[in-house]
Amino acid sequence: MQKLTITIDGWSSCGKSTLAKQLAKKLGYVYIDSGAMYRAITLYFLRNHVDWTDINEVKEALQQIELEFLFNPKSDQSEILLNGENVEFVIRDLVVAEKVSEIATIREVRDFAVAQQRKMGRKKGIVMDGRDIGTVVFPDAELKIFMTADNAIRVQRRYNELYEKNPNITLEEVKTNLELRDFIDSNREISPLRQADDARLLDNSNISEAEQLKIALNWVDETLHVKRKT
Ligand code: C5P
Repeated sequence: MQKLTITIDGWSSCGKSTLAKQLAKKLGYVYIDSGAMYRAITLYFLRNHVDWTDINEVKEALQQIELEFLFNPKSDQSEILLNGENVEFVIRDLVVAEKVSEIATIREVRDFAVAQQRKMGRKKGIVMDGRDIGTVVFPDAELKIFMTADNAIRVQRRYNELYEKNPNITLEEVKTNLELRDFIDSNREISPLRQADDARLLDNSNISEAEQLKIALNWVDETLHVKRKT
């Protein structure tokens, strides 16, 4: 059967990765979390005290970074490796979240990440989530989804996730970080977050994970012009 390129973009903490993972699993596609790449780059910059306002330092640092995704059967998902080290857990930290959007505005950083994302998607059969996947990385993707949800719901979801790792975190901290990232992501000069003209809008404020998966699978069927057997 024909393999598609499926892109899922949208605001922070809309549940993009949950849907992308489920969709990839159901279709036997590869799931790529493009945000993890920007987070891993940010982690490298922080750890190595890279001054990201100095473009030469950025260029030099990027030459030292190797990113790869490895499937972990234990967690049943692909996890990101930064120079061979599994950083899937540590990149979710608020310390990284507080800097990632600023670093993701840098042209050299985006060029570095986008080149690798395109390489990963060469063979199709991929679900990639992020902010510019349908607009910039794969403008010719056959199925594009743009996700949104109420602010309060997104904040609560992210808070629940982060609270498991760090019970000291406050709802206010999470809210401030989400609002800041959404602002920077949608107002940056290069590849700002926006819904592609041909993307389908999915608001999951009041629907379950199962329902959103069903909606997305129907879109896949429509795109493939086949009827899925239930
Ligand atoms: O998806 P996630 O929230 O993990 O992404 C972290 C940050 O990485 C986003 O807030 C955004 O600044 C950046 N990002 C991006 N382009 C993408 C994916 C993520 O700029 N395709």
